[in-house]
Amino acid sequence: QKEDSTTDLKDAKGFKGHDMLAPFTAGWQSSDLHPLVIEKSEGSYVYDSNGRKYLDSLAGLWCTALGGNEPRLVAAATAQLNTLPFYHSFWNRTTKPSLDLAKELLETFTANKMAKAFFTNSGSEANDTQVKLVWYYNNALGRPDKKKFIARAKSYHGSTLIAASLSGLPALHQKFDLPAPFVLHTDCPHYWRYHLPGETEEEFSTRLAKNLEELILKEGPETIAAFIAEPVMGAGGVIPPPATYFDKIQAIVKKYDILFIADEVICAFGRLGTMYGCDKYNIKPDLVSVAKALSSAYMPIGAVLVSPKVSDVIYSQSNKLGTFSHGFTYSGHPVSCAVAIEALKIYKERNIAEKVSNIAPRFQDGIKAFSDSPIIGEIRGTGLILGTEFTDNKSPNDPFPSEWGVGAYFGARCEKHGMLVRVAGDNIMMSPPFIITPEEVDQLISIYGKALKDTE
Ligand code: PLP
Repeated sequence: QKEDSTTDLKDAKGFKGHDMLAPFTAGWQSSDLHPLVIEKSEGSYVYDSNGRKYLDSLAGLWCTALGGNEPRLVAAATAQLNTLPFYHSFWNRTTKPSLDLAKELLETFTANKMAKAFFTNSGSEANDTQVKLVWYYNNALGRPDKKKFIARAKSYHGSTLIAASLSGLPALHQKFDLPAPFVLHTDCPHYWRYHLPGETEEEFSTRLAKNLEELILKEGPETIAAFIAEPVMGAGGVIPPPATYFDKIQAIVKKYDILFIADEVICAFGRLGTMYGCDKYNIKPDLVSVAKALSSAYMPIGAVLVSPKVSDVIYSQSNKLGTFSHGFTYSGHPVSCAVAIEALKIYKERNIAEKVSNIAPRFQDGIKAFSDSPIIGEIRGTGLILGTEFTDNKSPNDPFPSEWGVGAYFGARCEKHGMLVRVAGDNIMMSPPFIITPEEVDQLISIYGKALKDTE
């Protein structure tokens, strides 16, 4: 075990930590000394309370797409705050920014037609809304039994009760009495880790689609309402789909009249070098969740995009169904919407998806050049998203003993060299801002290389 690993477990007994019950933080980690307090951001960099500068390789939490100080987003927020800081969108009252954003946002999605946008404050709320919308839709169609959801092992869909249930990460379930019983999980599409000896990517995808079909048949297709997937899995370790995976999965889902929900919370607006993950993998979803880069994270906002197939039922049955009794005080918050409108404008003006696609090879190839390291099992990614999996003996079957904290050690070394990365077990994840420059990519690669050398 390396000496300055951040996993050096303290005696947690009687340990109080700072005043905040911090999200996704172990109690023992939140000492008065430990928290890294970020005070300022500038482009691809953030600064801590001691004035130290870090390259923010995760763009906050996969979200500050336009970096740390985009003046147009600040101006949009300020102008809206000075005009109308808040009004709601309930009971057929609303605001111009929310109407305008709905229109603009629907136009950005071209994989297939989307008819309506519903606003939330976050990705978790978007996915909770998906479940309620799908149930509402099936109730409207007189199919009260078609209510189960299929998600995937290692997926991340958020941390509210329903979004955490959909997620396929044990840490989100254990000790919280989850997942909820209406959620089933199917295979994680991680070829390197789960393929059988001699199995090609295509054969692996065929086997996973077959497993999905068997699960549907076992449960009864009349009970399965929807399937949810991230185009590229993010928090589960950055897992792009294997060849032909989404073609085969979509065919099964369609065969049994199951709705397809694309969770684009990380992938949307250019991260993969296309406007949406659905564009990249030819996904034709019935429903889409977005958040994060929608406002470049300058204000909290998420949204659900609803296809005509779903919205037509809801609208045509509305005299029977009455009010759509779902929404949040801040659904369509005018300041968040004003910022998101400006962010979408910037993405369009700067051809942001194309810019990401142009810089992606420098980033991907630069990091993947370290694949031969004896402690790296796999480096995977596409566009501006990338994951590194550390293993002993370069095999998916040889993880390092968990007490070694190799991932945490690597993360700590990156921090020492001036870069913040996401650590999850022996996975390291990066998703830099879309505005990262070639020089900054080179710096990112150089720090990664130094941290790797320290860790080997
Ligand atoms: N869906 C995906 C794919 C995510 O990566 C996340 C957050 O990382 C969420 C949903 C949840 O979003 P939020 O944290 O805004 O609730």
